[in-house]
Amino acid sequence: MRKTFWSLALAWTIVAPPVAQTQAPPSVTILKPARFFDGDAVHEGWAVRIKGDRIDAVGVEAGVAAAGATVIDLPGTTLTPGLVEGHSHEGAQYADVELKQAVNQGIIPGPRMLVSTKAIVATGSYQPKTFVLEWNIPQGAEEADGVDSLSRVVRDQIGKGADWIKLYGDYRWGPLPGSHPTFSVDEMKLAVETAKSAGVPVAVHANTAEGMRRAALAGAETIEHGGEGTPEVFKLMAERHVALCPTITAGAGPWPPAAGLESPVVARKRASLKAAIDAGVTILSGSDVGTFPHGDNARELEAMVALGMPAASALKSATSTAARVLHMENQIGQIKPGLFADLVAFDGDPTKDIGALRRVKFVMKGGIVYKQ
Ligand SMILES: [Zn+2]
Repeated sequence: MRKTFWSLALAWTIVAPPVAQTQAPPSVTILKPARFFDGDAVHEGWAVRIKGDRIDAVGVEAGVAAAGATVIDLPGTTLTPGLVEGHSHEGAQYADVELKQAVNQGIIPGPRMLVSTKAIVATGSYQPKTFVLEWNIPQGAEEADGVDSLSRVVRDQIGKGADWIKLYGDYRWGPLPGSHPTFSVDEMKLAVETAKSAGVPVAVHANTAEGMRRAALAGAETIEHGGEGTPEVFKLMAERHVALCPTITAGAGPWPPAAGLESPVVARKRASLKAAIDAGVTILSGSDVGTFPHGDNARELEAMVALGMPAASALKSATSTAARVLHMENQIGQIKPGLFADLVAFDGDPTKDIGALRRVKFVMKGGIVYKQ
């Protein structure tokens, strides 16, 4: 079942509380990995200097220890920007807003989060659908339609803390099998325009070509899933700068699937990902985690590579590209001076062997070490 959607910007690799949660971060830290992937290219033998919560300097010179600096050697590792999870589910109602607040207030450790609260569905299209018909059962997302309720619900969710608005542009409803479009282009346009006033982008769940087409025409910034996208729809998305979050492993059960990477289901995913890339669509990494256990998010990047993306491109889709899609490129997604010191070190080199993402050796967020 789908629950609250959020875009979870950063460091899902956090697995332990901060090493020194109660202490102020050291004023200067120098990290010395074997190499780093800065969100674009690999640099051998470069160091990163961190001052407070920001990256202060990168390069060979950055490794020259200043007096009072804490030096952390990370031999054999590759340092990357904190990885972005572009599509995640957890909690219900407004739990994502409250979780984000708890993280930001330092009550619990966690990633930087962009949340979309309850998501919005067209009346009658969503679930659960298995109850006595005369009962109005609370839905797994918020229903809204037409001029009045769509703008009111979008505004209400923004008022309660939504950083992004999520619409379901299609879903499994009606008498026919499979997914069918829900909102009209005009309804989605209204939602996009309403959200835009508050500087809030719109993400649209859409698997059908028609649902995707409507979302792209309406001004959605990302399309989630996109499983039945056609070359024409991907062309439209590229023209309108709509990013695709392909959620390759969503609904696949365990990954890799028991039926193997050559099974018809995977072949379809491979074909649609290739069509999107060939059309020039921006790809955002997002795993749909929450439909499978949190902490196993790396499987989406492994799947991207298994379906033909070079490992470095897959990593970009979870770092520099993701930061741009989320309008956070001046804060996260690259290892460069001025950005937040959100950094992860992996044993080995994930730009050559994506499986290295399973070997997290070091996690830093905002200059604070969470795992070492
Ligand atoms: Zn999802």
